[in-house]
Amino acid sequence: MKKLVVFLLTLTWIVALNAQSDKVNLPFKMEELSSPQFKKAVELAGGVCIIPLGIIEKHGPHLPLGTDLFEAREASFNAAGKEYAIVFPPYYCGQIFEAMHQPGTISYSSELMWKMLEETCNELSRNGLKKIIFANGHGGSTSFLQYFCQSQLAGRRDYITVLFQKEADPVYDPQIKALKKASLDGHAGEDETSMMYFIRPDLVNIDLIKDESGLDQGRLKQLQYGYTGIWWYARYPNHYCSDVAEPDRKLGELLIDKWGSQLARLVKYLKENNTIEQLQDEFFNRSEDPLGTGLSGQ
Ligand SMILES: [Zn+2]
Repeated sequence: MKKLVVFLLTLTWIVALNAQSDKVNLPFKMEELSSPQFKKAVELAGGVCIIPLGIIEKHGPHLPLGTDLFEAREASFNAAGKEYAIVFPPYYCGQIFEAMHQPGTISYSSELMWKMLEETCNELSRNGLKKIIFANGHGGSTSFLQYFCQSQLAGRRDYITVLFQKEADPVYDPQIKALKKASLDGHAGEDETSMMYFIRPDLVNIDLIKDESGLDQGRLKQLQYGYTGIWWYARYPNHYCSDVAEPDRKLGELLIDKWGSQLARLVKYLKENNTIEQLQDEFFNRSEDPLGTGLSGQ
């Protein structure tokens, strides 16, 4: 009898250990998971999925079209390595009308952008991934994503969406500042070139960096008090914004690690906390029955 108990305990321990190591070895890239593994991954991720969003557009004369996708995905891999979450496959459907004059830009309609993201979220939710983080690598999609998140309140849904936002960081920022040389830095500039130099140096064509100007053309300088869609083209028609010509691999590594670390903290928060879901449900209950009659909603 005693032997049987010891045997059963050992067996339970081995099964538990295997289940644990199964989980530890789970890939975080969704496209690498098998269907049975996916089920375990959803549990390990606490229902959290990161969608790294990029775009296919010109990045100066020297960087690949998919630069934003490389950056957002690398930061998401970094985050998922620190705090497990499922990372969605390459997603490059976003807002990029302003680069349509440049070769290689893939610009989808607003309707498709919306439907693509909405249906992706619905499908993730149907598969148990109820906490969806947008890790956006493309500045041109920021307004769209904020509006998409805001519009989640239009009707009841059983998942939440959160747009990751970088914040000041007392650990990384001083190191990053010490390495920066540019006084003007934006699209395809010092930061992005450095990140690509860290992620895929073979795709950085540094000899071409000075072929085009990354300086502000100031063609709408006289316009005050007004926003217009052509503002970016007016200032940076080359789709390049920077005055620096030297990328720095260490700077790129720090930028990705800062992004990944903050993203990992957001993943952890969402795993441990259901406040957003609770508030959202409370809001839907009230918005479906604003007079509190109890005759609708719930
Ligand atoms: Zn970019």
